[in-house]
Amino acid sequence: MSNIGNVWVFVEQEGGKIADVSLELVSRGVELAQKLNVKVEAVLLGDKVAHGADTLFRYGCSTVFLAEDPRLEPFTVLPYAKVIMDLIKEHKPNILLFGATMKGRELAPRVASEKMAGLTADCTDLQIDDFDDKVNKKFYANKLMQIRPAFGGNIIATIVNTWDDPQMVTVREGVMKMSPPDSSRKGKTVKVEVALTAQETVVKVIERIRQEKSVNLKAAQIIVSGGYGVGAKSNFKLIHDLAATLGGEVGASRAAVDAGWIDHDHQVGQTGVTVRPKLYIACGISGSVQHRAGMTESKKIIAINSDPDAPIFSVAHYGIIGDLNSIIPMMIKAYKAKA
Ligand SMILES: Cc1cc2nc3c(=O)[nH]c(=O)nc-3n(C[C@H](O)[C@H](O)[C@H](O)COP(=O)(O)OP(=O)(O)OC[C@H]3O[C@@H](n4cnc5c(N)ncnc54)[C@H](O)[C@@H]3O)c2cc1C
Repeated sequence: MSNIGNVWVFVEQEGGKIADVSLELVSRGVELAQKLNVKVEAVLLGDKVAHGADTLFRYGCSTVFLAEDPRLEPFTVLPYAKVIMDLIKEHKPNILLFGATMKGRELAPRVASEKMAGLTADCTDLQIDDFDDKVNKKFYANKLMQIRPAFGGNIIATIVNTWDDPQMVTVREGVMKMSPPDSSRKGKTVKVEVALTAQETVVKVIERIRQEKSVNLKAAQIIVSGGYGVGAKSNFKLIHDLAATLGGEVGASRAAVDAGWIDHDHQVGQTGVTVRPKLYIACGISGSVQHRAGMTESKKIIAINSDPDAPIFSVAHYGIIGDLNSIIPMMIKAYKAKA
């Protein structure tokens, strides 16, 4: 084993159920840790959440730091940050990964600022590589390359943290691939003493109202997405019809969401959902880099666009040049005739 710190994942849970994004991060963490010759460890906080440790072992964690306390349920940022800070001081991880979720986005900056560690938000890729800082004539071996779109998605930036460890990032749900669990994997649970002051527990949650998402695009095998080229809210019916015919879900570009034609839960892309369906049909979507960031991992992509030069065709496996108003009804008719 190396003498550098381990790779840590902050594990998000709701009612004891571990969030997919945390398992995706553990899966990626295993690959990073292998390159560094270190271990992947999880930080699991909450009340009565110990059963989650087995799941984390199956995905590749060798240790779960388990902090159970009624004051850690539901999530509030101050106690969580305190427990994590105490753990960082004691165990000195090299890398700390958070989901770019509501909780992760609140927690990670607080921990980073207290640790003076730096934080890269919304990474789309993570790699281990050496960094030769030619300006300051310093060489850093095995740093975390924190890769993400920058300047409105026009460039892909690689950010390296040369400050104090841990190197901290957030990653959005669906960006990293979840590896299959392996039930033969075992690990060790380390129970953590929770030491909180009255100031750290000053925020009390009085009531929680949860609104479920109207669609689960991440789990969809077929997605039919509509863009600004659909032309009007009423015309989105065509997209719904094609999706229903194929047994798929409806996605959208940000332009369609901004126009008020469909809810934000349906948005695919950099600031929407990252999807990996078996089939993605992009209708009247130009294919901006921000949209492509959320759908290029789809197994098969069909694009329908009246502009033969639309960038979406550069990532499509099949391109149909023409008016979606005539093409979609033809597709529905042809599919129904064959089905
Ligand atoms: C920081 C940032 C984050 C962003 N995040 C996202 C994101 O998560 N997701 C996202 O989608 N965008 C995102 N955007 C916006 C993105 O830059 C584009 O503006 C957006 O994707 C454009 O949507 P569109 O392709 O539907 O519209 P347009 O670019 O207007 O394209 C419409 C397309 O429809 C075609 N068309 C028109 N009429 C027809 C017809 N009758 N039949 C067939 N084709 C037709 C046109 O040829 C055109 O290619 C982001 C932007 C920024 C700056």
